[in-house]
Order: sequence, then structure tokens, then C-alpha cells
Amino acid sequence: MANLINGKEIAAKVKEDIAKEAGNLAEYGVTPGLAVIIVGDDPASKIYVRNKKKACEEVGFYSEEFALPEKTSQKELLALIDTLNKRFDIDGILVQLPLPKHLNEKAVIGAISPKKDVDAFSPFNVGRVMIGEYRFLPCTPAGVMELIHSTGVEVCGKKCVVIGRSNIVGKPMAMMLLNESGTVTICHSKTENLAEITSQADILVSAVGKAKFVTADMVKEGAVVIDVGMNHDDDGKLCGDVDFADVEPKAGWITPVPGGVGPMTIAMLMKNTLTAAKINAAAATKKSGKKN
Ligand code: NAP
Repeated sequence: MANLINGKEIAAKVKEDIAKEAGNLAEYGVTPGLAVIIVGDDPASKIYVRNKKKACEEVGFYSEEFALPEKTSQKELLALIDTLNKRFDIDGILVQLPLPKHLNEKAVIGAISPKKDVDAFSPFNVGRVMIGEYRFLPCTPAGVMELIHSTGVEVCGKKCVVIGRSNIVGKPMAMMLLNESGTVTICHSKTENLAEITSQADILVSAVGKAKFVTADMVKEGAVVIDVGMNHDDDGKLCGDVDFADVEPKAGWITPVPGGVGPMTIAMLMKNTLTAAKINAAAATKKSGKKN
């Protein structure tokens, strides 16, 4: 029987530490500020935005939501980002994805100042993760790393397999495991003999987006199994990529869905916003020091 990795509990502890640090910053008149932009009426996106605002309240950050209509033009969205890039009370800017089809997602993300790109999706911050010199880590894979660390299993030297190669999860996930000296294999929809590869993994991360995709025959006895997937089963219930009932008896450690990676993603967003606030406050102090 596997040990359960309780993402909800670990995320609560991370947020508790962040709230303490935010309290310390408040003594210097600094309140971390997060701007969340949502375009259109996607119900799932609305829930994510609500949860992010709630997390800001929990840790004592200022948050501002910009709910824009579906028909918002690229020019209008870029103008808002430009304004937010210049605002001193805003440390982090998040654009909730996916955007409506008529908007150019890459150009929008690229317009966010790298100093305020708390999702770490911009090419600049992605590049910094590649060279292992980063200020912000993309939230979901950063949350996964925290969950792996919580098990006490060392990444160094381990066989790590990531299923999925998206820019926001799979690729940065693989890079972070590599940065900790894991021996990393990335699998995707064109991978041949997937089960043969995954069943060698000491650490298996699935970010595919298909319910019950990872079954016991794909998992090594005692492996750490992290389920990033957020899907719905036939009854409409939230579930991950891993067939939990099948895999749990074989794994050494496993994340549930819900209550695994999801809460960590938001906790890491708070962590990045705190980091941004500290960097911006230090830069402002330096600037005002020069003036005097
Ligand atoms: P994505 O962009 O759709 O990527 C899915 C990846 O899975 C692709 O690389 C795809 O390969 C691969 N794949 C699809 N079918 C496969 C197969 N049969 N065998 C092996 N690989 C296969 O999705 P994403 O944005 O990375 O998200 C993945 C999942 O994580 C989704 O369920 C999403 O909702 C969830 N998610 C959760 C959180 C969270 O906070 N918990 C955050 C982000 C995402 P190709 O590249 O070859 O197409």
C-alpha cells in the first residue's frame, strides 16, 4: 500500500510560511500584489481565478481581478498588461489561460514584464529555468517538486519519467528533475513502448489529461507516482491520469486527485508573487537610495 502524498496539507504549510513572510514585509509597508486577468466566460477558468483570489486573501496579498469580455481585442489586452507592468502596487501579473481563439496567447504572455511573470511562462523565464538560474519556477512543476521532496526520496541519480511534453507542465517538469540530477525521460503521444519505459521509473510524473491512463502494469513497485492530470470520469467526478485504485497498492508514494498537485500549483503562485514583491521592493529601495 502506498504512502499518500497530501498536497492539501503541504500546500497549507507553504501558504502559512508565505503569510508569515508577508506579515514581515507589511512592517516595511510592502504588500505583495497580484493582478489576475480573465477574458471571457469559461466556467473552469472562473473557478481557477476565484481560487487564486481566495489564496491571496489567505496569505495577506492584495489582488485585483480584471474580468474582460470575450470580444476583448489583442490591442486592449496588451494595453492593460502595459499599464499593470508599470504599476508599483502590482508585483505579479497572471493571464488565465486558455484565451479566446482570436487572441495571440504567445504575444500576450510575452508582453508581461519578466519581473512580474509569476506563472513563469514567458520565453525569458522559461530560458532561465533551462539554465538553472531562475527567479520564478512554473507553478505546477514547482509544486510537484515540493511534493517529491516531501517524500524524502532523493531525485539525484533516480530514473525519472515524465509523460507529457507541454510547455507549461511536461517540459519544465523534466528540466527541474534534471536540475536535481535525475536521469530523465520525456514521453509523449508518439512514444513507442510507453509502459516499458514508465515501468522503469523510480519517479513517475503523469501530465497527459486522460482519465485512468496510468495503470499498475506501467508502474515500478515502490515508485513515487505524481498525478498532474485534471480530468473528469464517466460520472463527471474530478480525477487524475492515474487509475488510483489499480496503482496505489503497487506504488511507494502516490498523489490523490483532488488534493494532490492542484493545491500546490496555487501555493507556488503565491510563492512566486512573494518573490516578485521582494525583488520589486529591493529595486525600489535601491532607486530611492540613488535619488537621495
Ligand atoms: P497538454 O498540453 O494537452 O499536453 C498533454 C501531453 O500528453 C502532450 O505532450 C501529449 O503528447 C501527451 N499525450 C497525449 N496522449 C498521450 C499518450 N497516449 N501517450 C503519451 N503521451 C500522451 O496538457 P497539459 O497542459 O500539459 O496538462 C496535462 C494535464 O494536467 C491536464 O489534465 C491538465 O488539466 C492538467 N493540469 C493540472 C494542473 C494542476 O494544477 N493540477 C496544472 C496544469 C495542467 P503530444 O505532445 O505528442 O501531443
